Amino acid sequence: MSEFDYDLFVIGAGSGGVRAARIAATYGAKVAVAEEYRVGGTCVIRGCVPKKLMVYASQFPEYFADASGYGWSEPQNISFDWKTLIANKDKEIDRLNKIYISNLEKSNVEIFQSRAEMLDKHSIKLVGLDKKVTAERILIATGGTPNIDYSLKGREHGITSNEIFHLEKKPERIIIAGGGYIAVEFAGIFNGLGVETHLIYRGEQILRGFDAEVRQFLYEAMVNRGIHIHLNDNFSRIDKQDDGLHVFTLKGKEIVVDEVMYAIGRKPAVEGLGLENAGVETNEKGTIEVDAYSKTNVENIYAVGDVTDRVALTPVAIREGHAFADTVYGGKDVKVDHSCIPTAVFSQPEIGTVGLSEEEAKLAYDDVDIYTSSFRPMKKILPGKQEKIFMKMVVDADSDKVLGCHIIGPDAGEMVQFLGVLLKMGATKADFDATIAVHPTASEELVTMRVPTRKA
Ligand code: NDP
Repeated sequence: MSEFDYDLFVIGAGSGGVRAARIAATYGAKVAVAEEYRVGGTCVIRGCVPKKLMVYASQFPEYFADASGYGWSEPQNISFDWKTLIANKDKEIDRLNKIYISNLEKSNVEIFQSRAEMLDKHSIKLVGLDKKVTAERILIATGGTPNIDYSLKGREHGITSNEIFHLEKKPERIIIAGGGYIAVEFAGIFNGLGVETHLIYRGEQILRGFDAEVRQFLYEAMVNRGIHIHLNDNFSRIDKQDDGLHVFTLKGKEIVVDEVMYAIGRKPAVEGLGLENAGVETNEKGTIEVDAYSKTNVENIYAVGDVTDRVALTPVAIREGHAFADTVYGGKDVKVDHSCIPTAVFSQPEIGTVGLSEEEAKLAYDDVDIYTSSFRPMKKILPGKQEKIFMKMVVDADSDKVLGCHIIGPDAGEMVQFLGVLLKMGATKADFDATIAVHPTASEELVTMRVPTRKA
């Protein structure tokens, strides 16, 4: 008999926590998980999933507009009902939430609907249930929460991605602060839904860290689609007046909107966890630091996902949770390889990217060939649309190894999943060239780029 109530207690039933709990239980561990909000976590409940549904919703006007090029009459009496979208989206989130709960139950993981606080390195208080339990090991998988600029005057008038999915009505005008994933994705959503959309970003160009040409391409495409992008600027204050929220910027602009959304990054959710009681250390950013096996500085306490701020992406958290369970309960030795992670930004147009940007490759390699291709997607030709797809391959000229692939255009996220496999395998440009094209597709361009556009 164990001296503890559980072999493993997981705090947070999001992507990483649920995966770790289920796999550990499959290996025979006695597992419980505590969740203070809804099982499924940010990605399922108020992140990736509802966001993608809203991206789909926002794309219909584009499809309607393109239809006439294919002989369809202009659709008549088109209207959009925000409440229907939100209700249907909520129904789908409820369905997924139930699946997550049922999967945990089927794996014999006990679920506590409560906030959890560590009292020491083996004891957990279930705050909402007034209950105390003990566990041999604890896994912290609490994710992150949106940042807010607390110094901003009028900050209370703004909302974050937590609230955006539950707005009572569609705003007529919105301003989104930030230039990362969430800002560009929501700018595309609201613009597509016919909302006057502003994006304000403090830096030179949106999506810092991505390939420079892709960033410029997205910026131009977003502007051409009608989004007002204010670069090198930031809020100075927000005033609530009768006609809306008056946003004043550092450059002296005054923009009147119905909603202000902060998308200025996320921070690890560690508040009230009792880290100090258990002796778990965080760094100056509040991040829980872990080793290659997701172990914290405390021998029996582990952490996975956004709370560790390694790569803040759902599939990474899932992989870390799985690797933890495999290693600790499955008798395997599994470390997560955080290199070469393919990712998509569901901006409009969409971005798919994996590996090094041109700028990163230039710093790391002596001789880099850049292959690029830009063309109008076939589907857009009959409707007479001018927006192009852009593709780029970054190749080490010495070894012929493909170092990075970057796509911006329809289905870029779908394409980059498989480019991720190739880059992970160490594919060379010659391997791409030796592959016969799938015709007519956009992705065939990836195997038909014969001559470098330039050296990096
Ligand atoms: P990001 O870290 O991607 O971007 C944050 C943005 O906010 C940056 O442009 C940053 O500017 C800016 N910023 C930070 N602090 C301030 C400030 N005080 N004032 C003004 N601007 C500021 O965060 P997001 O919130 O967009 O997304 C969080 C994470 O969620 C992402 O890192 C991503 O990993 C994940 N995510 C993934 C998605 C996907 O896979 N498709 C979708 C959505 C989120 P600067 O560049 O100058 O630092």
